[in-house]
Amino acid sequence: MPWHSIRGHDKALDALRRGLTQGRLPHAFLFVGPEGIGKRSFANVFAQALLCDRVPETALDPCGACPSCLQVAEGTHPDVLRVARPEDKHELAIKQIRELCLDLGLKPASGRRKVAIIDDADDMNDEAANAFLKTLEEPPPGSVLILIGTSAETQLDTIISRCRVLRFDPLPEADLAQVLLEQSVTEDPAEAARLAHLAEGSVARARGLADATLDGFRRAMIDEISDPRGFDAPALAVRLATFSKEAGKESIDQRERARLLIGELARFFRGCLWQTAGAEPPTPDPADLRAIQTLAERLEPEDVFLLADRCLEADYHVGRKINLGLILDALMHDLGKVINHA
Ligand SMILES: [Zn+2]
Repeated sequence: MPWHSIRGHDKALDALRRGLTQGRLPHAFLFVGPEGIGKRSFANVFAQALLCDRVPETALDPCGACPSCLQVAEGTHPDVLRVARPEDKHELAIKQIRELCLDLGLKPASGRRKVAIIDDADDMNDEAANAFLKTLEEPPPGSVLILIGTSAETQLDTIISRCRVLRFDPLPEADLAQVLLEQSVTEDPAEAARLAHLAEGSVARARGLADATLDGFRRAMIDEISDPRGFDAPALAVRLATFSKEAGKESIDQRERARLLIGELARFFRGCLWQTAGAEPPTPDPADLRAIQTLAERLEPEDVFLLADRCLEADYHVGRKINLGLILDALMHDLGKVINHA
């Protein structure tokens, strides 16, 4: 029953089931796919299946109602160990991994098994990853490790070779819109469809974009950049930095907001690419479409490609420890150089 709460990942579930019916349960998994599409929820239901009191684990179909299933859902099951990058940090610390390995070695409270969910596995530094290798190679009997990351490419080969890799696709738009309605992100089906389109398969992204203040900033930024008279790049960089900082006092929240907006710029420039190629840009937003048409008129396809590419580069840097103000300043400077001289 709890699988019903997971949308859009039938392919991953099928792969998991196939692996299970072909013999014994692998002891380590690496879940990879874009952020915010439900890998963590999937891992939770998997943990329920592994610990359910009523349904044997090979059925991979937890009841969702026994004490064990409820504890997993509430995050209180003593045999489900979770580690994630601390909110104010950029890395999973080696200390966290060492403690996890020690905990895994203790006897399970349920007498059955321990399940470890390692979130933000992308952010394990090499030192932490190496500390983890021995446990990954030979976990305590019965234990199952689930690593959650965005791509297998960011992991060390030594990690990948010890895990069953399960790939997750972005949610289809219709599924995402349904999730947004179910989670009351919005009550308006048209708005849910608009957010689902903008968010490109990510629930987390859609939640961010549902914020009216952010949506207002996004609108103003796109209108300014597409203004036929050009735009004031240094001033926009400052406003973008200030607005990002208003997301909260933690650097991680500020960077998250900056990434949402840079992602929106990248999507806007991709729309311009369609337009310069003579195709109808796939945007549900009439104001975006007007802005795309206005800007694309002045640009060559290779310029637009450069702009979109520059946004991806900035996004990569925001995910690292580089000063946010500097990244945004350099980004706007480069965008201005192309756009204002077109
Ligand atoms: Zn159960």
